Amino acid sequence: MKDTLVCYKGGGYDGCHWEWNYFLWNEDGEFEVLYATGYKGIVDEETARNLEPGDRFSVHFTDLIDADEVVEFVDSTNASHVKMLTDIYSRKFRATLRERYTFIGTCQGEDCDLLLDVNDMHEGGWAGDGHGVTYSAHYLYCDQCSEEES
Ligand SMILES: [Zn+2]
Repeated sequence: MKDTLVCYKGGGYDGCHWEWNYFLWNEDGEFEVLYATGYKGIVDEETARNLEPGDRFSVHFTDLIDADEVVEFVDSTNASHVKMLTDIYSRKFRATLRERYTFIGTCQGEDCDLLLDVNDMHEGGWAGDGHGVTYSAHYLYCDQCSEEES
């Protein structure tokens, strides 16, 4: 497998049963941990290779070369996590890979379906996660909608 982003239910520690964790099979088919937390976070390739889509970890594969799949992933993922992933990308990977994998998402503004690079989007819709622990963004907006929201 290569050029594939994998998300699954990782995490697992006091007060938090799980959270989305992510790893990547890069363009050479190498295993790269993006975000692994708690005792369910996967940091070894052996375990990663044995994951099947939709198993008990709710594993989901995104083909990073398929623009439609990328948009679907961005639009269905918590905005804070999308921003976190793009930050990890820009720190961790060399420029060629950052260009190869561009996260494109849909602006969540009302009547705005603009598609744009997540790096050019603004977080909005800030709310607690229901546990009173974290405060995170739930939507991504383009420049114009971001101004209207604030
Ligand atoms: Zn917009």
